[in-house]
Amino acid sequence: MTAQLIDGKAVAARVRAEIKEEVARLKAERGITPGLAVVRVGEDPASKIYVTGKKKAAEEVGFNSWEHHPDETITQEELLALVHRLNEDPAVHGILVQLPLPKHIDADAIIAAVKPEKDADGFHPMNAGNLLLGRPATRACTPYGVMRLLEEVGCNPAGKRAVVVGRSNIVGKPQALMLLQKDATVTVCHRKSDLPSEVAQADILVVAVGVPELVKGAWIKPGAVVIDVGMNRKADGKLVGDVEFAAAAERASFITPVPGGVGPMTIAMLMKNTLEAAQRAGK
Ligand code: NAD
Repeated sequence: MTAQLIDGKAVAARVRAEIKEEVARLKAERGITPGLAVVRVGEDPASKIYVTGKKKAAEEVGFNSWEHHPDETITQEELLALVHRLNEDPAVHGILVQLPLPKHIDADAIIAAVKPEKDADGFHPMNAGNLLLGRPATRACTPYGVMRLLEEVGCNPAGKRAVVVGRSNIVGKPQALMLLQKDATVTVCHRKSDLPSEVAQADILVVAVGVPELVKGAWIKPGAVVIDVGMNRKADGKLVGDVEFAAAAERASFITPVPGGVGPMTIAMLMKNTLEAAQRAGK
């Protein structure tokens, strides 16, 4: 392996330590304790793990945190009423509705009901739109975390070719916009793209697809910075990314492992979004 590993766990720990300091300052100087309310509907096992991790991180950095855990039979109106209550609660600065929601709930309507200034996930259309327009916005946590990882390894996107594989609303699209904002020349790939030839152009490659080892090591441009957002459980229980790790690491200059790369950053940036919401609320 020639690439250096990007240690997302270590960077996320640093981000959390910075947040903890800011929380202490906010409490001491302005008497404000940031509050994060998490809503988890029903019994999705993965959601339970994610929410437990988020609550733990919130408590570690000194936030107040609350978990609301309605039964999966909750109606759309009841869930909207819960979101409205949290919107109006001055102790709550960040609201996170864990996805996926049960099929009978309109997830888009729930996300849109969260006050944009309390939208800890950065998924609200107002925040997505402001990102598009280059205005201040709460950023989607995963691509925001990727930008921090690039900064940490001294990778300035300006003038570089960045290729983003995947165009979801929560990772690929906001990732492309954040890289564009940093003056990269950005290409966004999807199922109809000629992946080998596009990937070969990338100085910075971000892959967020959800297909195990889709991107082959041989496609990687020598010296590229490779960020693998994918998290896929193989039949043998092993967790792998969307990039063929060992072969890609032979060509890349920096690469994120899976697990321990992007994953820990997502939670850290959720804490950052909540802290910033609390800082704004107190002004
Ligand atoms: P998604 O399913 O919403 O979107 C996947 C995207 O990949 C789509 O835009 C689709 O067009 C594209 N795609 C699918 N197959 C393709 C192919 N063969 N070639 C090219 N493009 C293809 O997924 P998502 O929510 O963006 O998540 C992507 C992956 O990232 C998943 O593995 C998910 O678990 C992981 N993820 C990780 C974190 C984290 O914190 N580490 C956060 C979010 C998502």
